[in-house]
Parts: sequence; C-alpha cells; structure tokens
Amino acid sequence: MQQAPRGEREQQQARLLRLEELRRLQTALRACRRCQDRGYLTQALPVVNPVLHEGLLEGLMVIGQAPGLRSQQRGIPFGGPGGRVLQAWLERAGFPPGYLHQHVYLSSLTRCYPGPAPRGQGDRRPSPQELALCRPFLEAELRLLRPRVILLVGGMAIEAFWGKVRLEEVIGTARIEGKRRWLPLPHPSGVSRWLNTPQHREQLQRALALLADWRRELEL
Ligand code: SF4
Repeated sequence: MQQAPRGEREQQQARLLRLEELRRLQTALRACRRCQDRGYLTQALPVVNPVLHEGLLEGLMVIGQAPGLRSQQRGIPFGGPGGRVLQAWLERAGFPPGYLHQHVYLSSLTRCYPGPAPRGQGDRRPSPQELALCRPFLEAELRLLRPRVILLVGGMAIEAFWGKVRLEEVIGTARIEGKRRWLPLPHPSGVSRWLNTPQHREQLQRALALLADWRRELEL
C-alpha cells in the first residue's frame, strides 16, 4: 500500500490528537458537578454531544442556551421538540434527514438542565455564575473542533458571542471572521413566539438561504 506524504501524515496525526483531547474533555464534562457543588443546581446531569468522529472537526457546530428536560432525560443535546425544528431548518438549507444528530457538534452555554423558569413558561435561564463555570468547556470545544460554521441558537447564545442585540437586528445576517462563520438563529423551541410574525419568518428564511450557500461552498 502506498503511504501518504509526510506532511499529510502529520496533519492527520494532529487531527486525531485533537479528537482524542475532545474525548477527554467530554469525559470531564460528564463528571462535572460544579454548579451542584456551589448550590446553583439541585442535580447536575451534563448532556454531552453523543457522537464523536473526525467528520465533526472543522464542520458545523450549534451553540444553544442549555439542555431542556427532554434532552436531559434522553441524554442527547437538542433531544426534544426544539431539535426536531432545528433539523427541519437544516433540511430547508439542503442538509439531509438525520444530519443534526450525526454530523453536527451540539453544544450550549451550560450543559445541565437548569429546571423550569420560576415564572411563566419554559426553562430557567442559567445565571451568570453558571455561564462562567461552564464557559471553559465551550471554549475548549471551539479550540479543538475549529468549526467553520457556528449556529448561535436563541437570544442568550447570540448575546454571549455577538453582544446584546435584538433578534430583529441580527437574524438573516452573518459574521465572518477568518475561516469561521457565525449565523444567529432564533430559538427553535415552541415557547418562543418570535416566529409568529411573518416578517420574522422572512428573516429566518434569509438566514437559512445563507446557510444553504455556505453548505454548497464549504461542502458541509
Ligand atoms: S452546567 Fe456546566 S459547569 Fe455547571 S455542572 Fe453542568 S457541566 Fe458543570
């Protein structure tokens, strides 16, 4: 069998090392109880991206707010209705069925279900303290995965990387920094009413059209 040239072999080796480091990071994440130990959570049960393969490197990454109850019960990020909506959005951008949970690295600002919101519907927003405790995991994932496209899902994830903006101002726009492209999206959960407005649905369509262009250009 013919051997790959030395440079290529070294590159391949470096990618495998990154994958191995990611595996160790996930093990540390699963064992993390920082928020529980400090009393921010009654029970910390981190939800971690279940698949790990080389195809995730330099690919598509999703950053959401925090896992919901269904995701925690199933142990799969975006494992509830929000995940189904997000997969449907990907399909509108030309990705095949099943792509979200097989070929996208799913991450979030915090990794444990924060419990229900004290008032109103939906889940509690993680506190600044929880965000700070969990952020090093996310930064390490970004460093190891080097995603070319990052979908920021929901206002909180957008704010964490884009600054404080209204969804109306950013959905349908994108940011390109070197080899990395950022695309803000509304939250796909049924609790968000943002998409009830026709103008907002048009903005989402523009965002998905951008994603479709990137998919073709980057061969995602
Ligand atoms: S939210 Fe993050 S930092 Fe807090 S316990 Fe869960 S994994 Fe650890």
